[in-house]
Parts: sequence; C-alpha cells; structure tokens
Amino acid sequence: MSHIPFNKPYLTGKEIDYIYQAVQSGKISGDGMFTKKCHDFFEKKYGFRKCLLTSSCTDALEMAAILLNIKEGDEVIMPSYTFVSTATAFVLRGANIIFCDSRKDHPGMDEDQIESLITKRTKAIVPVHYGGVACDMDKIMAIAEKHGLYVVEDAAQCVESYYTGKDGIRKPLGSIGHMAAFSFHETKNIQSGEGGMLVVNDPQFAERAEVIREKGTNRSKFFRGEVDKYGWCDIGSSFLPSDIIAAFLYAQLENVEDIQKKRISIWNKYLELLSPMKDRFSMPVIPAYASNNAHMFYLVCHGLAERTEIIEHLKKNGVNSVYHYLSLHKSPFYESKYHGKELPETDRYTDCLFRLPMFYELTDADINKVVTTLNNK
Ligand SMILES: *Cc1c(COP(=O)(O)O)cnc(C)c1O
Repeated sequence: MSHIPFNKPYLTGKEIDYIYQAVQSGKISGDGMFTKKCHDFFEKKYGFRKCLLTSSCTDALEMAAILLNIKEGDEVIMPSYTFVSTATAFVLRGANIIFCDSRKDHPGMDEDQIESLITKRTKAIVPVHYGGVACDMDKIMAIAEKHGLYVVEDAAQCVESYYTGKDGIRKPLGSIGHMAAFSFHETKNIQSGEGGMLVVNDPQFAERAEVIREKGTNRSKFFRGEVDKYGWCDIGSSFLPSDIIAAFLYAQLENVEDIQKKRISIWNKYLELLSPMKDRFSMPVIPAYASNNAHMFYLVCHGLAERTEIIEHLKKNGVNSVYHYLSLHKSPFYESKYHGKELPETDRYTDCLFRLPMFYELTDADINKVVTTLNNK
C-alpha cells in the first residue's frame, strides 16, 4: 500500500546546477552572487524595501528583536497559536510575551483583542499570517500607529500571499509591517532546507540590519566600497547563509509561479471534495482581504479525542496527517511566566486542528485517497 507523506520537499531540477555555479565562482561564503540574485528577486517582485537572507526565519526574527532594541521587561504582543520561534526571538532579549487569542473563524490572532493587551511597556506587535492567510493589517497598523508600536510580520509561511486593504491596493505580505521575517525551511512553499529572510521596510533600520547580520561589523559597506576598512560597530551575530543555500533558493524562486499554481490547484481540489463534510469539520476560511497561497490545508474538528481517532485512522490507511501548534502560553517553558487570561480559541485549535498532506507532487489519486479515507471514518 502506497503511503502518502505529509510533506515532500519539491525540487525544481536547477538546484544542483546553481550550487555548482556558486562553487565554481570561488566564493561560497555569504552575500555572493546568488544571495544578490535572491535579494533582487524579492525587492523587484514584491517591492520589499530591503531584503537580507538569513539562515532561518528564527534568525530574521532575532534580528528584528535586536533592531527594535527590545530589553528586559518590554512587552511584545503575538498570538499563542504559533511556532516557538515567534516568541523565543523576543524572549532572548528579555521580553515578556503577551499572548493574544486566535479568531473564532480562523487561527490567526484576533485583531479586536490586541488593543486591550497594550500597556506602557508594549513595544511591538508580531502578527503571524497563519497558513499564509493575512491578518487584518489595516486594523493592526492603525493600532500600532495610535500607540507608537512597531509591527514585525511573522511571514514565515507567506511567500506569494497578499492583503488588500481599505484603500483597495493589493500588498504582498511582508511589505506592510516595519519589518517581516520569511522562512525557507523545507516545509514551506519555497524552500532551501533551512533558510530565511529579514525584510526591512522602515528605512531607519536598514543600515543597522546589515551590521547586526555581519557580527556587528560594517563589512557590507566595506564590500560595496563605501568604507576602506571594516570594524566592530555594534552587537550582532552571524545571521547570513552561505551562497550555496542562496543558489538552491534561487532555483526555487525562479519557479515560484509554477509552484504556486500547482499548490493552489491541489488546495482547491481539497476544498471542493471536502466541502460536503462541512458539518463534521470546519473548512479553512480566507477573509475577503486575504489571498490564499495554499501553504496548508487544515480542517478543524470538534474535540481532541475525535482528532486523535481521525489521525490514527488516516495513518492506518497510509495517509500522514498532523496536528499543529500547541498553545505557547501553556508550554512547559512559558506556563509559569504567563499571567494573562484564558485563550479558549487558541486551546481549541491546539486540540482540534489537523493538516492534510500538501505538496507539489501530490497527485489527484492521492487527494482522492485522502478524502475517501476521511469519508470512511
Ligand atoms: C516555519 C516557521 C517559523 C520558523 O522558521 P525557521 O526558518 O525554521 O526558523 C517561524 N514562524 C512560523 C509561523 C513558521 O511557520
């Protein structure tokens, strides 16, 4: 019996070619020829102000926390239903995390609860566009502006996803906050095994971002010939990836349209075939202001016991389905530090949400098998 995995990283076929070229060029440390190609690609295609490849989205979030001068006791608002990196990046700087509940209709943070969480110590809001589906950024940016806060988009899952605001302009996710962090981990639509990118939209952070990424030195300026020697200017770390990673990533980026077309057709097929089961499971919701980049297809059932049975049933029949985040406010690390209110929606997604296999090479037969197996339960 063939087994359908949850994820299978897609290769475009050009990756090895480009890695070979990078190696041949004799410069495979950071910021080589392919890193530049990747930066240009994102800056041109999506209008991001400044792009800096990093070794992971976690790195990009850590850079954002440094750039915002997050200090002991500062408060940062973010959803509890997210990956640990969203929080650890700020906890490393000493921040207290103020967790916001998810929305009733989808797992993104409930924008209407953000304002009640703001105090004198609040420094930033970190919206996570869950499944690549936009948070209501008009609302979030207005709150941030009113209270003088920064917004860092956790855009880890957001390549090729958009938000249409009240002004009717369609903006790519990652272009709206003061900064944004993308991931190219192998579980994402566009991948390089491990990998990430910091987007700096607010120009006040652009120069320092380069320094922090290069061990606190102005080496980037030196390479551009803007200074005649480079030295230690600030705190920092080594956040930049080797050009070998960038070469791999570039092969993926060149195929972004094809990859997205395929994923969206898979997603739509799931929705079409699963919709008759909408009393058993709630279907993913895409608000009118958001686009769908088909990062994931998830369903929400009615309870933990039911979900455990479904995942078991699928597994017995050769389909690998997985649940997702565990409420961060109840995690072993943060539970004793959390003094906020109950977050019932977050807990509900923690218990009831599960994700179906979703990857480029998923065939129609695979999709039919997943749906039939779910139907037979
Ligand atoms: C994948 C992911 C991350 C972490 O990305 P890495 O590149 O593995 O560091 C952070 N936040 C969210 C929402 C993610 O989905």
